[in-house]
Amino acid sequence: MKTPFLILFTGLLLLFGCKNQEKNKPLSSERQSQNYTGPIIDMHIHAFVEGNPLFGMTHPPTLRGETYEGVISDKEQKEKTLEVLQKNNIVKAIVTSGQLWYDDAPETIIIGDSNKSVDELRNQHQEGNLHVIAEVAPFYGGILADDESILPYFELAQELNIPLGFHVFPGGPNYGIHLMPDFLGGMRAYNANPLQLENVLVQYPDVKVYIMHGAWPYVEDLKALMYAHPNVYIDVSVVNWILPQEEFNAYLKSLISAGFGNRIMFGSDQMTWPQVINVGIETINNADFLTLEQKEDIFYDNAAKFLGFSEEEINKHKIR
Ligand SMILES: [Zn+2]
Repeated sequence: MKTPFLILFTGLLLLFGCKNQEKNKPLSSERQSQNYTGPIIDMHIHAFVEGNPLFGMTHPPTLRGETYEGVISDKEQKEKTLEVLQKNNIVKAIVTSGQLWYDDAPETIIIGDSNKSVDELRNQHQEGNLHVIAEVAPFYGGILADDESILPYFELAQELNIPLGFHVFPGGPNYGIHLMPDFLGGMRAYNANPLQLENVLVQYPDVKVYIMHGAWPYVEDLKALMYAHPNVYIDVSVVNWILPQEEFNAYLKSLISAGFGNRIMFGSDQMTWPQVINVGIETINNADFLTLEQKEDIFYDNAAKFLGFSEEEINKHKIR
């Protein structure tokens, strides 16, 4: 009589063991909230020359209530930013005026530029020192994307077959018009809508455009634009460090549930506050509705596709 009991007992143990193993398997919600640790592409960083008014400036309280101490010099900006890039496994970064830092990190830096004439930019590209036209920000001067003075930049981007990054909201600090009237006085909320790009996208259908800082709070207009024009990508810089987590989640979820998860790219818009790169990464990792695959799309895969990286280069980044 002993044997059947033993079998029953062993069976129960096995069953219990299996149940326990089931228990130890991560639940799907746990899998979703896993942190992404692979390579990252930052689509939006700035290098400044000495004398920029943002050096030493404390960023005014963001909508989530945080302030950031600014670095005080061009040297500190470069050193601290490159350090943060390395710490976070940021393997590529589009840096506006990136030629200033290029020799320090040629493997990482993709050079962006825009505040020049079209001819100067074309020459710069010919010399191999221009990879992306960004950041195009006529917004600060109260000028829209389809203004006669701006169209040649889109034409050049299409001609050279390089991406163009266009500034809309929420770039520029909250209340910037009032806090820094000399510097940001031309900002107007009514000029910040991404739909200003529509006529341009019809005129230059092959241009590779990415909307910088993701066009919050115009999420519905952004969805309309992305629905109508398959070549429009966005970076989620600034929104990932100024918005409260709940608002960021609502914004991102709205885009992803609409089916645009494969055109959203990580960016920081680091200017003189290198720590915002860390905050931006954390905010995406803390968006607990995202699967690890969706995080990988945002942090790396979508940008690698947008920038046309070869399979070889992608493998090199992923293995590293
Ligand atoms: Zn920027």
